[in-house]
Amino acid sequence: MSANLATVSYIGATILFILSLGGLSHPETSRRGNFYGMAGMAIAVLATVFGPRVTPSGYAWIIIALVVGGSIGLYAAKKVKMTEMPELVALMHSFVGLAAALVGFASYVDPALHFEGIEKIIHEVEIYIGILIGVVTFAGSLIAFGKLNGKIGGKPLLLPARHWLNLAMLLLVVWYGREFINAKDISEGMTPLIIMTIISILFGFHMVMAIGGADMPVVVSMLNSYSGWAASATGFMLNNDLLIVTGALVGSSGAILSYIMCKAMNRHFISVIAGGFGAAPAAASGAAAQPEGEVTPLSSAETAELLREAKSVVIVPGYGMAVAQAQHTVNEIVQTLRAKGANVRFAIHPVAGRMPGHMNVLLAEAKVPYDIVLEMDEINEDFPDTDVVMVIGANDIVNPGAEDDPSSPIAGMPVLQVWKAQTSIVMKRSMASGYAGVDNPLFYKENNRMLFGDAKKMLDEVLVALKA
Ligand code: NDP
Repeated sequence: MSANLATVSYIGATILFILSLGGLSHPETSRRGNFYGMAGMAIAVLATVFGPRVTPSGYAWIIIALVVGGSIGLYAAKKVKMTEMPELVALMHSFVGLAAALVGFASYVDPALHFEGIEKIIHEVEIYIGILIGVVTFAGSLIAFGKLNGKIGGKPLLLPARHWLNLAMLLLVVWYGREFINAKDISEGMTPLIIMTIISILFGFHMVMAIGGADMPVVVSMLNSYSGWAASATGFMLNNDLLIVTGALVGSSGAILSYIMCKAMNRHFISVIAGGFGAAPAAASGAAAQPEGEVTPLSSAETAELLREAKSVVIVPGYGMAVAQAQHTVNEIVQTLRAKGANVRFAIHPVAGRMPGHMNVLLAEAKVPYDIVLEMDEINEDFPDTDVVMVIGANDIVNPGAEDDPSSPIAGMPVLQVWKAQTSIVMKRSMASGYAGVDNPLFYKENNRMLFGDAKKMLDEVLVALKA
């Protein structure tokens, strides 16, 4: 393939990636968006492999990498359960970071990439920054992976003088950057590069360990953004325009998502990434007030009875719906209630589940009509006029403590005000807390009922009772 054709293909792929992002911004067009993305990536890979910078002698290596990587990817994609998707995404982010770091080291020792004067400095700055971003993304994403699959606890690790520690690491990185640029040869430059890599690993670990469970959505989207910048840095090191642009697209859309998440959670971005910086001590230590009183359990038949009589119903799905894979039964219940003339809608909290858009994906999979799926801001004022709210495997996102308990770790986070409805029914298996590890006073409210059990099993029973 000629250089010109490769450039034209790259431009075509860039346009497809932009169209893909546009498509992914709405559920109705997201399928098309995914298709554009896949087509763009196929063109990008073909144009790179058959482009002027790969010689036929490299094909064997590329085929080996494709077969090994493709097989692992296929196996992982087939094996992963829907509930494991968030941690898989975190793991993928870590691979992007690792790739950027490895490309950085490779291009430093590559004799073909030997420059002089200002070009050498620019190339080495690209390498240093590329490895820095890549390693922080890699280490941070590994911790995020552990926190999302529960292997690492949700409580923030708040070391004494942690901000000074971060500052010291930053200063050391700058210092060793200077040493690296001033190094006379590769062997001399390798020492500061390796020291910076170790500091970056510690920084990445520390950054995500210091973030509490409730702030994890911001971390997930932030690492998504970092992985984009890491890819972009790789593009600079390899002098590949498409990688620069694609990485920047991922980096900036991830940054916008982080901003949206921060807004949804009423958090300052800097406070979150600095690990509770500026948070009240009680909030940081996670000591929320203990709710008191008794809860009122009810049966699935009683739930069906309440739903049958309700004219307006709001369903609040959460992580437990994903665990139970209850979305299809939920849809059947919705269809049954709507056929009886009830006004049924869904209320989606921006951080429900374990990844951005988690609930929307599940509901779309179950073919729930998009027009009855509403965002928190669109529906929060309607709860006082709602007869029954069904909370399916959600907890933190309906916790009134976020509004009225300043010592709660989720204080200040806007929540769905389900307790304002005539009756709320919470479906979950036990009295266990949600991801943020906070008890929920909603369960003890007078107008709240608890339907204990696996969401899928209980909803199946409710459906049978409703149809009877
Ligand atoms: P929560 O984690 O707060 O609560 C989920 C509830 O579901 C649990 O209390 C659990 O209770 C219940 N549950 C689990 N399995 C089942 C089942 N099979 N059947 C019925 N219930 C079940 O989830 P929310 O969606 O309310 O809130 C999301 C939380 O995750 C927030 O704290 C958010 O910050 C965090 N987060 C969100 C991310 C995102 O991007 N959206 C990313 C990372 C974290 P029990 O065990 O008693 O059944």
